[in-house]
Amino acid sequence: MLQKLIANFVLYFFVIIKLMEFLRDISLKSLNTFGIDAKARFFLELKHESDLNGLTDNIKNSNIFCLGGGSNVLFVNDFDGLVIANNLKGIKIIDSNDDYVTLEVAAGENWHNFVSLTLKNKYYGLENLALIPGKVGGAPIQNIGAYGAEQSEFFVYLKAFDLLDFKLKTFSKEECLFDYRTSVFKNKFKNRYLIINVAYKLSRKPNLNLKYKELEEEVRKIPTINPDPEYIFEAVCRIRQRKLPDPTMIGNAGSFFKNPIIEKAKFNEIKNQYEDFRGFEMPDGRLKVFAAWLIEKCGWKGYREGDAGVHENHSLILVNYGNASGKDILNLSNKIKDSVLEKFDILLEPEVEIVK
Ligand SMILES: Cc1cc2nc3c(=O)[nH]c(=O)nc-3n(C[C@H](O)[C@H](O)[C@H](O)COP(=O)(O)OP(=O)(O)OC[C@H]3O[C@@H](n4cnc5c(N)ncnc54)[C@H](O)[C@@H]3O)c2cc1C
Repeated sequence: MLQKLIANFVLYFFVIIKLMEFLRDISLKSLNTFGIDAKARFFLELKHESDLNGLTDNIKNSNIFCLGGGSNVLFVNDFDGLVIANNLKGIKIIDSNDDYVTLEVAAGENWHNFVSLTLKNKYYGLENLALIPGKVGGAPIQNIGAYGAEQSEFFVYLKAFDLLDFKLKTFSKEECLFDYRTSVFKNKFKNRYLIINVAYKLSRKPNLNLKYKELEEEVRKIPTINPDPEYIFEAVCRIRQRKLPDPTMIGNAGSFFKNPIIEKAKFNEIKNQYEDFRGFEMPDGRLKVFAAWLIEKCGWKGYREGDAGVHENHSLILVNYGNASGKDILNLSNKIKDSVLEKFDILLEPEVEIVK
């Protein structure tokens, strides 16, 4: 027992010594859209792929967190380890023909700027995913999706740096195990790989995706318009700007919880009590229901507790009115979760990555 304690102490001591070469006690406040004032004990900004050479045995056994745009994280405490902020830049064409173009995009590129650039070049597909905050490297982690599209539809591969054996590995689409707001990087390989770049295959021919009702209605507002992908892009931006709180004005990380998927019998049980309860049938017969509706029915919309709150128009979005701590937001989210479980017997799962 004593020997094990000493061994752990020695290991911890050496980890600390090796990490000394990184920046220390860096505030992450401006690096997460919740605006949580947490500190990283050690910090490294990756600007060039050659910076990866600095990541070898010196980080073995350390606690590491890979940070993109910080738009899907909640830091509950100061981070007692190494935060690697990915700022790798660059976009290159790696394959092209009359129908398609495949682009390899560095993980530190801003997602929306990348989407915008694809449309300017008449490469189509990503228009429904406009204005999602964050960086390209963050997109595959939870398989971002919006307005009837998901990044996995255009994804070809990604390259990632293994933080255990310090080698680059290429992941195919199949290996990423993409699903609704998840991937292998949120489960089996959580915090194991640092994504370096992602490849997307886009079409040179427009192929409009208007299956999301709200988007279709926005586009049809002007009946004389013959929509093209650029018009869809603008329509998506308009809807998002109208609906979603801007993190530069009020701290938030978008939807805090995932929309739960429930059994048909459970759905019918609730539907018998609430006429306005809605769900989308999944291929396996279960139904995806709106977490926002459940939260609203529990009376949380617009609720505020100190500087932590639930957005007044959007019960799925938790907000930091200024000086909320990560713990304040987490406590509020737990209360919401408990009340939804009690009232509806449905367990909400966070979409946001909670870093403790
Ligand atoms: C206002 C608002 C609206 C949003 N709308 C949507 C939406 O419509 N659809 C949607 O899906 N999401 C949405 N989000 C959530 C968020 O924007 C996305 O999940 C985004 O892809 C996160 O990217 P990021 O770079 O900010 O990642 P971060 O928040 O920095 O990190 C998120 C996770 O990805 C990991 N990660 C990030 N970069 C890397 C990397 N290079 N290598 C390894 N791991 C990495 C982190 O470790 C963490 O686990 C919204 C957020 C906000 C604030």
